[in-house]
Amino acid sequence: MGTCVELNTKAKMPILGLGTWKSPPGKVQDAVKDAIDIGYRHFDCAYVYQNENEVGDGIQQKIKEGVVKREDLFVVSKLWSTFHEKPLVKGACQKTLDALKLNYLDLYLIHWPLGFKAMEELVDAGLVKAIGISNFNHEQIERILNKPGLKYRPANNQIECHPYLTQEKLIKYCQSKGISVTAYSPLGSPDRPWAKPEDPSLLDDPKIKEIAAKHNKTPAQVLIRFHIQRNVIVIPKSVTQHRIEENFKVFDFELTKEEMETILTFNRNWRACAFTMCTNHKDYPFKAEY
Ligand code: NDP
Repeated sequence: MGTCVELNTKAKMPILGLGTWKSPPGKVQDAVKDAIDIGYRHFDCAYVYQNENEVGDGIQQKIKEGVVKREDLFVVSKLWSTFHEKPLVKGACQKTLDALKLNYLDLYLIHWPLGFKAMEELVDAGLVKAIGISNFNHEQIERILNKPGLKYRPANNQIECHPYLTQEKLIKYCQSKGISVTAYSPLGSPDRPWAKPEDPSLLDDPKIKEIAAKHNKTPAQVLIRFHIQRNVIVIPKSVTQHRIEENFKVFDFELTKEEMETILTFNRNWRACAFTMCTNHKDYPFKAEY
């Protein structure tokens, strides 16, 4: 499985995975197949990405070809907010499993800070091996951990993270509680639908480019490596074969301690995914300091 992060369930989660948000149905199947051939074993999916069926086709084909077995893969999906009420949770999970053509998920995240306890029954039913959270701030995590009768602690918190949003406090908090962290939008999500020309661009940042040039690597490879050295799982998305390959070539170089420290100074608390349409919701997670 290559380099992994051990979860509080003792499962090993590959530190590098393929993101699939915005990966169009006509392209994502090939992207998944290419990724498996290149060596990716971790796939980050979600019901709301509307492409789990095609992701599943790609996985299924590689299992049929004998390239990988189900147990070699680490498949993550997410429960969307419209299904967080207890009676709907199992059906939503089953829908995802059917689309992915799998009989269990390695990790199921609640996509947005809403009820977590309803997820526990999925572990008991054997539909998922571990449950986790996404976009939760530390106060919201604290609330879960303090819930009386909590049966399963979240195994992972998937949050936006990159040099413009370094998340030092939240990562430290999660890791201190035994909750692994996954960094989403590690390249700054240049294909996000709401991107504005004046927004900052990580891939074009001259200071990132300078560090990359020193190592004979690309800016994307530096942006990915940054997480690996913090023991943070990272899931760059691409549907382009040569990029899927490039993004996987990050285990043959090391950023120096000074370079890591320099990259941390680029923080400007900038979010590619601020979900600004939800800012008035009582559970909007990004107003807290961390
Ligand atoms: P990323 O930061 O991964 O950026 C993806 C974009 O970068 C695509 O346009 C891709 O192009 C391009 N790209 C990929 N590799 C390279 C490269 N080597 N050089 C130049 N450009 C490159 O953005 P995402 O927002 O997609 O985040 C990654 C994943 O995280 C998502 O796909 C999803 O799985 C997850 N996520 C989870 C969220 C949550 O709420 N939990 C929110 C946001 C993301 P192309 O594909 O055309 O090659």
